[in-house]
Amino acid sequence: MFGNMMEQPLLVSSLLRHVERHHGTQEIVSRRIEGDIHRYTYRDMAHRARQLAKALHALGVGAGEVAATLAWNGYRHLELYYAVSGTGAVLHTLNPRLHPDQIAWIAQHAEDKALFFDLTFLPLVESLASRLPTVKAFVLLAARTHMPSSTTIPDLLCYEELLVAQDDRYEWPTFDERTASSLCYTSGTTGDPKGVLYSHRSTLLHAYGAALPDAHKLSACDVVLPVVPLFHVNAWGLPYTSSLVGAKLVMPGANLDGASLYELFDTEQVSFTCGVPTVWQGLLTHMEQTGLRLPHLRRVGIGGSACPPSMLATFERVHGVDVLHGWGMTETSPFCAGSALKSQHAGLDLDARLAVKAKQGRVVFGVDIRINNDEGRELPWNGHTSGNLLVRGPWVLNRYYKGEQSPLRDGWFPTGDIATIDADGYIQITDRSKDVIKSGGEWIGSIDLENVAMAHPAVAMAACIAVPHPKWDERPLLVVQRKPGVEVSRETLLAFYSGKVAKWWTPDDVVFVDQIPLGNTGKMLKSELREQFSNHQLPNP
Ligand code: AMP
Repeated sequence: MFGNMMEQPLLVSSLLRHVERHHGTQEIVSRRIEGDIHRYTYRDMAHRARQLAKALHALGVGAGEVAATLAWNGYRHLELYYAVSGTGAVLHTLNPRLHPDQIAWIAQHAEDKALFFDLTFLPLVESLASRLPTVKAFVLLAARTHMPSSTTIPDLLCYEELLVAQDDRYEWPTFDERTASSLCYTSGTTGDPKGVLYSHRSTLLHAYGAALPDAHKLSACDVVLPVVPLFHVNAWGLPYTSSLVGAKLVMPGANLDGASLYELFDTEQVSFTCGVPTVWQGLLTHMEQTGLRLPHLRRVGIGGSACPPSMLATFERVHGVDVLHGWGMTETSPFCAGSALKSQHAGLDLDARLAVKAKQGRVVFGVDIRINNDEGRELPWNGHTSGNLLVRGPWVLNRYYKGEQSPLRDGWFPTGDIATIDADGYIQITDRSKDVIKSGGEWIGSIDLENVAMAHPAVAMAACIAVPHPKWDERPLLVVQRKPGVEVSRETLLAFYSGKVAKWWTPDDVVFVDQIPLGNTGKMLKSELREQFSNHQLPNP
């Protein structure tokens, strides 16, 4: 027997309808590429999204077709988020930090029909246009005054003119909630990037999950600034969760340095933000140097790579900001787990609470996890046995876009991460499987070793990589980027490990570099370091 309740598909357009009707006057503030600050409301956004939906039809981008973006976090990009998916087309957020060859490969693989891009990327698109045979319409996200006087892009269109040509009489269509809504390719540090095709249903369910009190804890009283880009896993779902709750949105544009971010946080009274640790390093350094504080910031979501305990402690102790250390991936929409405390942790002292929060956290309803050994047998949740982390849930990938083979194992998605799970269900990621250091047949957790180094006041960034060793197969090498103008020796850093990790985990050597290479989503490129130091001679091997 079926229940007697209404059947309403979970569609991205329903978020827009909701936020326009119930939070229409709430603000969206954007730092524009043009240099100024732009303000309007969700009602204005919804109005322009309907005009854009009609413009998409006029351009011939129909349901099931793919419209791509190369753009920073700003209101026009947000309009595309809603209009493209709302019409039944697929929003493909290209990552401009990828190599141009990769962008061209991805755009062809996705069969992008239209490309909307920010002024910043005009030279990039000019260099790529001839290699994008499927793209029929190139649209610059600007007004006529900012259009170039000449360009090699054929028939370049002006976004604001496309909108003005349309009225906003448009009804969002209703269709199957399993319809594709957006497409995002994995970072592709190894092999070709792979497409992850989200559905309306997965996007809405993820938004419900990510907004929960033990996740991003979002409400209509929040002012949300997504530092995480709209081109990286839908900015961790923040464009959707903000509409779901009716929060004010602040879009930072292209300037993600500490001073620019601080200014927006301060003037717009931002209460919640999300980003990768490297971004927070810039903001915290700026505040340390200037003595500035952020009285309005209440919570910060940190993920994408491990949040060093030293960063966690600075946010919590010095700035009184609640850190939500989260774990997820492109394939999981991304939010799966966050480090919110349980009731039994509430009475613990701050050090003990921070130790819980340093883990990547526990899942929200919808997602389930397990750790397996290499033979596929499930391992115990005791906080010290580590294994391959697998996940499943309605916002976890089933198969890659155009992928022929299912990546699943017995219905679970293998994440490629190595983790422990403790008795309370908290995950701790010890490594990416391709980054593990295997010494004498035993794993050494590179993230733990990096966290120790990052706690040293002279260290700006630290990566721990495996280098070949004649006796132990591999041993850890610590690669350090020092803070500007600060000296620290190899011996001091090695001595800093004493008592903090098992003795045999202590790195065998330290090398200093000017800059640790970062990938296109702000993660350390350990593959590059491994190549650079593949012939490194360890002392006394
Ligand atoms: P991406 O698909 O680019 O978002 O990368 C996902 C990968 O980032 C995961 O599989 C992890 O290896 C890593 N990652 C994400 N969040 C964390 C975290 N909090 N701690 C450690 N690694 C993380």
